[in-house]
Amino acid sequence: MSTSPHVVIVGSGPIGSAYARVILETHPTATVTMFEAGPQLTDIPGESVRNIADPDAKERAREMSQGPQSGALRESLGIPAGVVVEGMFTARQGTHLLDFGGEGSAHAPTFPAAAAATNVGGQGAHWTCAIPRPAFSEKVLFIPDDEWDELIARAESLLHAQSAAFADSAIGGAIRTLLEREFAAELPEGYGVGTLPVAGDPQPDGSMRWAGADVVLGPLIDPDDPLSQRFHLRDLSLVRRVEYDGGRVTGVVVEDLRTRTTSTVEADAVVVAADAFRSPQLLWASGIRPPALGRYLTEHHVVISTVALDGERMSELVSDDALAAELARRAKHAADPVAAVNRIPFSEPDHPFSAQVMYAENPPFQLDPSHPHAGNRWGYVNMGYGVRKHPRVEDGVTFSDDELDYRGLPNMTIEYELTDAENAEIARATEHLQRAGQALGEFVAQPRLLPNGSSLHYMGTMRMGPADDGTSVADPYSVVWGFENLVVGGNALIPTANTMNPTLTSVAIAVRGARRLADSLG
Ligand code: FAD
Repeated sequence: MSTSPHVVIVGSGPIGSAYARVILETHPTATVTMFEAGPQLTDIPGESVRNIADPDAKERAREMSQGPQSGALRESLGIPAGVVVEGMFTARQGTHLLDFGGEGSAHAPTFPAAAAATNVGGQGAHWTCAIPRPAFSEKVLFIPDDEWDELIARAESLLHAQSAAFADSAIGGAIRTLLEREFAAELPEGYGVGTLPVAGDPQPDGSMRWAGADVVLGPLIDPDDPLSQRFHLRDLSLVRRVEYDGGRVTGVVVEDLRTRTTSTVEADAVVVAADAFRSPQLLWASGIRPPALGRYLTEHHVVISTVALDGERMSELVSDDALAAELARRAKHAADPVAAVNRIPFSEPDHPFSAQVMYAENPPFQLDPSHPHAGNRWGYVNMGYGVRKHPRVEDGVTFSDDELDYRGLPNMTIEYELTDAENAEIARATEHLQRAGQALGEFVAQPRLLPNGSSLHYMGTMRMGPADDGTSVADPYSVVWGFENLVVGGNALIPTANTMNPTLTSVAIAVRGARRLADSLG
């Protein structure tokens, strides 16, 4: 090992960024090169596009994230601009469907909404920033509790967590009161209705600067900070292969997409954090094929609806002045659709769901002006219940040695099926959503189950495990079984059934892996 070991990171999302930050803060001389297949969207690398105030600039940043099929071909990806809705679990701006139907498209008829983002910051440039902690059986049980709590705290600090975002919103408070009246008696202590923790920095004017990979990178992208001298981010650089000799990786083969030239870059360790489909794809393309690679795919299924808040019930809890103040505050930040965010967290055994309840003064779609709830003065909530998928070896992604995708990598086919147990939990979640909606007002969009893949939270395809028994890809420190210095990162590592947004968990797992990797560099 040289005195200045070099680490290559594939992917610039929040997880690759967490690796870069922790490695460089832990190791005094290591250098990191981060390769990102997509373009840099913002002056500050990895910033959330939600912070871009100019609508045209925001739109352009999102199109640039949608891979080679963006722009004129965007509709072929299933993302027509008119139906894209922020704050909802539908096709989202900034993402591109894996199964877009064109040449080189993945095959995912049973998981049709699977999507990715290709840009500096990854999906983390577009995310909603909800960062609840996992609870009960959602946690990675082979990581000791004390250590886990410290890892989560570090992950929260890397992501600029706000545990009580918008807690002062009178409307948000009234929504919590109405939900508590309906559900509090049946929820365990500590897992009742509350505010949803989010990643961002509240601004003096009441707005939020949403967190992206930029805040995770922190000092690494501050030219005045010495750590930035040891960090190199290369955008539009597609890693095509991980090179290795026996159980040691030696570098990566990377294509510069601007010049179309390919080179080999040597490394003392490689971290692959290129999302839950494209990371296992890269390992497969490199001939690294543990039996569990791509298997045990999970997400959380999403049942959503939109409700017009009931004026009578709300006005008992919120004064006219408070409503006017809320609307005035919102008017200042009309470009940001997220206002008060509340939740009912996962708890066992009786509430195996996560509910996310987002207030906005307008519905996320055009309501016919003649609709009885059009222009509702009290506004609307978009609500979603996340329902877990239990890991099964049958669900997953396979890669073809014969058919290439549009990037020239082994094409993917996703196989996925809901079991009776999952359908039963979806039915129960739908009942809960009905009750929540009735407690708050009138439905303007009835509860409906979104197509598989809509959560954008894909887990399990490179799961970590306590033993190399064929059911996991990586060890408890995220090192691929059989390798000394090949590390994987991202939601794909999460081995459990989950209902909540996974990024906080994945950053915590990454902190653990990065510390171990930095130590191993000498
Ligand atoms: P990504 O952010 O997906 O980054 C992976 C990067 O790797 C991409 O930029 C990709 O271009 C790059 N890459 C892929 N292949 C290669 C290659 N071969 N060479 C070089 N680069 C490559 N999560 C939450 O926890 N809470 C939320 O509220 C939430 N809301 C979301 C809302 C939206 C609209 C979206 C799109 C996502 C949301 N997510 C949310 C998911 C969250 O963004 C992801 O969990 C997170 O970004 C995962 O981080 P990552 O670094 O593992 O992967």
